[in-house]
Amino acid sequence: MKLYKKIGAAAAALALAMSLTACGGEDTGATDDKIVIGIKFDQPGLGQKVGDGYQGFDVEVAKYVAKELGYAEDKIEFKESPSAQRENLIMGGQVKLIFATYSITDARKEKVSFAGPYFIAGQDLLVKQDSTIAGTNDLSGKKLCSVTGSTSATKVKEKVPGVQLQEFDTYSKCVDALANGSIDAVTTDDVILAGFAAQDAYKGKLKVVGAPFSEERYGVGLKKGDTELCTKVNTAIKKMIDSGDWAKAIEKTVGPSGYKVPAAPTQDACS
Ligand code: GLU
Repeated sequence: MKLYKKIGAAAAALALAMSLTACGGEDTGATDDKIVIGIKFDQPGLGQKVGDGYQGFDVEVAKYVAKELGYAEDKIEFKESPSAQRENLIMGGQVKLIFATYSITDARKEKVSFAGPYFIAGQDLLVKQDSTIAGTNDLSGKKLCSVTGSTSATKVKEKVPGVQLQEFDTYSKCVDALANGSIDAVTTDDVILAGFAAQDAYKGKLKVVGAPFSEERYGVGLKKGDTELCTKVNTAIKKMIDSGDWAKAIEKTVGPSGYKVPAAPTQDACS
């Protein structure tokens, strides 16, 4: 009798342990059959939620890489990852990978690791069609908008000390503010700005200045020190580029904005 009780208790403990493991798996952004990937939800051409689906170049690269890692499209859960939350989402294990116009920087490398780069953009300005702003030199006394936690906000504060900078959590809010006249310019990567300028709502009303003043190397954010995962992601990116699928994806997603697509970059070594 006693023995049966013990076996029963052991079985219950095992079941509990197994269910805890399942939860633990969820926490790391991946279970046996699902992967959680962070993207932007409001950046046309790059990462955008449209109805129940997701569109854009970041989404295309994410799907390709996930497939190479063994996750079919229906096994991906996309999670919105605003600029200021990206490191925390990775460190907290809510997402396994982030493809979200995420520049590789030394400051971010203190907290996360990066595979890539898979694209190179440059910081620029978005203004009204009739604006006289032609570069960062024309920004004094103007109201500028960018996003909290972005390299764009940091860089423009360095470059134009004393600039009146309004910071929101997403670029779509900045672009709305520009369109309704409450600010004079939006700053972030040119490829992001081009995607907004090409939206039906803004066509002919907004323009990208076209004087980039930084190099933004888009990486895939992942847990700091996970060299094995980083290497797998880089292998997948290289395959996407070499097969011609990278060029097809960029043409389909970013191409319609008229953005001049640069050559595909070479990936950094994982460390
Ligand atoms: N690429 C820049 C960054 O990682 C600006 C775009 C963004 O905020 O996603 O901060």
